[in-house]
Amino acid sequence: MVWIKIGVFILGVLLGGILNSFITWWPQEEEGSGPQAACPHCGHSWYGLEKVRLWGLVFSQGRCHYCGDHVPLRYILVELATGVLLVLAFSRGKGTVDMFRLLAFILLLVPLFFIDLKHHRLPNILTLPGIGLGLLLSASLGQIRSSILGALTGGGLLFIASIATRGGLGMGDAKLQAMVGAFLGLKAMLISLAIGVILGGIVAFILLALQVRGRKDMIPYGPFLITGALLVSLVIVTG
Ligand SMILES: [Zn+2]
Repeated sequence: MVWIKIGVFILGVLLGGILNSFITWWPQEEEGSGPQAACPHCGHSWYGLEKVRLWGLVFSQGRCHYCGDHVPLRYILVELATGVLLVLAFSRGKGTVDMFRLLAFILLLVPLFFIDLKHHRLPNILTLPGIGLGLLLSASLGQIRSSILGALTGGGLLFIASIATRGGLGMGDAKLQAMVGAFLGLKAMLISLAIGVILGGIVAFILLALQVRGRKDMIPYGPFLITGALLVSLVIVTG
């Protein structure tokens, strides 16, 4: 069992490397080049194991092989997070389809988390197909009713919130929460939303109190909604 988990972790790290390429590449999609594993400093493409930054951390002190510059910490975080989350999904999933649903959910949420932190945007290219995929996978598990209700309620609540806060919360957050509802169903989506709102409130309060951020600064909300969704789907037992 331990060896399988190590295998799943390594698979997660490799998938995290692919997610890193996507996170770095977005939003340059209009340039017509696909996501590539390349150094953010010198632009040199990475090949084979060079792409796995966790490996690079051990064997080249986290530096790029070509320019010797430090690769941003985010690369390591994405690989570690994807590895750990995949091991949790493997322990938590009930059957092949459920496991695949969790895997797809993680591979959508990790890039959304880091792209929202960096660009304050939640790309449609992830959320919209995500809503469809969540509905489809939930339907094949016989949970289509809860999935549709979850998507409509999650999207609807945050749509109202985005109008009420005049863009403090964006439409991207509404599409994200619709996706969370499609994957988790109504009840788990509501719990994840509550966790996200509380977490976001606490962190915003701390940032304001420490004057790291001012009242008018934008604090992206996606990472809190995503943390709530990951906790509910992988850690907290909702019954
Ligand atoms: Zn480099």
